[in-house]
Order: sequence, then C-alpha cells, then structure tokens
Amino acid sequence: MKDKIKRIFREQFLKEPLMVFAPGRINLIGDHTDYNSGFVLPAAINRGIFMALAENGTDSCKLVSLDMGEAVEVNLKNSLRPTNTGWANYIIGVMDGLRNQGLEFNGFDAVFGGNIPIGSGLSSSAALECAAVLGISRLSGNEISENDMISIAQKAEHEFAGVKCGIMDQFASIMGKEDNAMRLDCRSLRYEYLPLDLKDCGFVLLDTKVSHSLGNSQYNKRREECCEGLNTIRKKHPKASSFRELTMEMLEDSKNELTEKVYNRCSFVLEENNRVIRAGAYLRSGLGKEFGQLMYASHEGLSNLYEVSCCELDLLVESARRLKPVYGARMMGGGFGGCTLNLIANKGKEKSISQLRQSFETAFGRKPGVYEVNVIDGARII
Ligand code: ADP
Ligand code: MG
Repeated sequence: MKDKIKRIFREQFLKEPLMVFAPGRINLIGDHTDYNSGFVLPAAINRGIFMALAENGTDSCKLVSLDMGEAVEVNLKNSLRPTNTGWANYIIGVMDGLRNQGLEFNGFDAVFGGNIPIGSGLSSSAALECAAVLGISRLSGNEISENDMISIAQKAEHEFAGVKCGIMDQFASIMGKEDNAMRLDCRSLRYEYLPLDLKDCGFVLLDTKVSHSLGNSQYNKRREECCEGLNTIRKKHPKASSFRELTMEMLEDSKNELTEKVYNRCSFVLEENNRVIRAGAYLRSGLGKEFGQLMYASHEGLSNLYEVSCCELDLLVESARRLKPVYGARMMGGGFGGCTLNLIANKGKEKSISQLRQSFETAFGRKPGVYEVNVIDGARII
C-alpha cells in the first residue's frame, strides 16, 4: 500500500514525498462513554490511512483521494471552509485547525489511500485526520504536541464533518502502542497502557457492511439525550456536574422526572463506565472469558438501553454467544451498522469464524466482511 501511494505521488507530482501512516482503532469496551466524561479502552490496529505529501511552492494544495478517485484543490489565500466533497473536509478541517493554532504551512500536494473499511466503525475518519495533521505539520517543520494533534483532528471532525465525536478515535490513532490497549480517562485525558496478552486468543471483526452514515444524526441525538438527563438530575443533585459525579442513586432518585428513554440512556452510560473499569482489571490477568462476559454485557446495553444497534449486529452477537471459543462479542463504534468485535480463542477460531459467517449469510443472504487485526503503534512517519 505504502509503495503504491508513493509511486502514484511520484508519477503525478514528480517529487519525493514524505510518507505518513495513521491507524484506525478497535475499542475493546466503552462505547458512547467518551463524550460523557467517561473511560474507554481502545487500541490502534494494523489498518489505516497512508498519505504521501510534499510542498509545491504555490499558494494552493492539491488533495488526491485514490480510493474515491477524486481530487480537490484548496486555495490557501482564502479562508478555509467545508466543501461539498466529504472526504476533503477532514483534511481541510485539519488545515484550518493548524492555522488557528498559529501553525502556518505552505502549499502542498497530498495523495492518500487506505486499507481500512470506510464507515465500518474502525474510525477511518480519525485515521484520515491524524495522517493529515501529522503529515502537514511535519512538512512545514512545525513542532506539535501529541495533544495538539489529537485536538486539531477532533475539531476537524466536529466543525468540518459535522460529527460531534468524543476524543477516543483521534487519541487512539495518535497514541496507539503495539500489543497494548489504552485506558483513557476522557475527562482528564490521563491514560494508561495495558498490555494485551494475545497468545491464546485474538480479535476478529465481522463487518455487517451496513453503512452507519445515517447514524451521524442519531449519534448527535444520543449526546443531546445524555445532556438532557444530566441537566434534569442536576436540579436535584447539583454535585452531578458530569457523568463522573453521577451515581446510580442520583439517577434512581430522579427517575420520575426523566422520560424512560433518557433514563435508559443515562443508566447505560453509568453501567458501561463501570464495565470499562472492571475490564481494565481483568486485562491484567489476561484476556479470556471474564473479559468476554463484559463485552456481551456491553452489547446488551448498547442494543437495549442506548438503542444504537441494528438487527445485523444483534444477530452476529447472538450467534457468537452460542460458540464456545468466542469469549466475547459486541458491536463497536457509533452503531447502526459497522462491525462487531469478537474475542476468539485461537483453538477453534477458524471454525467459529465460518459459523458466524454462515449464520449471517443464512439470515441476510450476503457475506459479512471478516478482518483479523493486530494491535500496533500509533501514527508515524514511515
Ligand atoms: P468511520 O470513521 O467509522 O470509518 P465515518 O463515517 O466517521 O466512518 O468516516 C468515513 C468518511 O471518512 C468517509 O465517508 C470519507 O469521507 C472519509 N474517509 C475515510 N477513509 C477514506 C479513504 N480511504 N479515502 C477517502 N476518504 C476516506
Ligand atoms: Mg469516524
């Protein structure tokens, strides 16, 4: 992939490019907790975005997406605004963020492509933003901290793609570490690497190939519902300034003032945070059945209380539950499609994968995607 992108860049721009890679991510457990001041447990994976860049001595930037077969030109003399070309907005948003931080850059050309399924919940969008922020800042010789890269990338997604995402995806893409998960406190941004013992089992993603693009509006809606819950509870319990101070007791105490929907959303967030904390403790004694049980519980909450699953995801998780070598499974990411994450024992893995595939095919008449992933380092120059 790297060589292909480099070659195409050279052919088109007759220059030697700087090469950058930024990974996508899995999230072992803890979904929809990041924007609720909670905890998450992501890890960077060996699929992501490769980008070739070089300065061009002009005031304009040519951005070329190989996977979309499109190019967009951006004039740096004008103020940077979102365009009608979706993928370009992630990069232009990053350019705008760099500018706002006073990190100026000259005209450049960029060619990029990826080996990460798009819109499957593996965060191809964050991989794209992080490749852009690392590449453009290095190109112009600007020293930029990891924290700044993460927040510029997140802001690009908020302001140029219109998704009010939390910090997890960009954090994982920049900070990933080989064979480690990261337990991130999304409020303080304190984090801890937790080694993954993957001798006897591994992570396999099953892709429903249901596009979650319709989920963006629902994602923002969940955010609002959580906010609404918190605001209501705070009237009785002023200490509950975020989900971190909120307790089950406070939630129960305010139950009558909340709609059933908002009550369910809030109880999911509290339970899921609790699961992330317990999961971190289980990780220390190795990945296995106990960890897997938390994954199943997480899925149940996401499906029934937070209502961000869909029938394809539910079927994959229900099928996984019946298979002994599958320690745990859950939908992952924003929801409404995308992948399930499965923790499967090496012994019996192939058979389990083919049984899962079969169940999906019988129910929906088409094949799911199957990706076995390794946990690798975060964004870097390659
Ligand atoms: P996810 O981050 O879960 O993969 P999103 O909907 O958040 O899904 O982001 C997908 C969007 O990111 C795509 O619609 C596209 O605009 C952009 N994108 C991601 N990967 C690529 C790629 N390889 N080439 C061009 N654009 C991409
Ligand atoms: Mg995304």
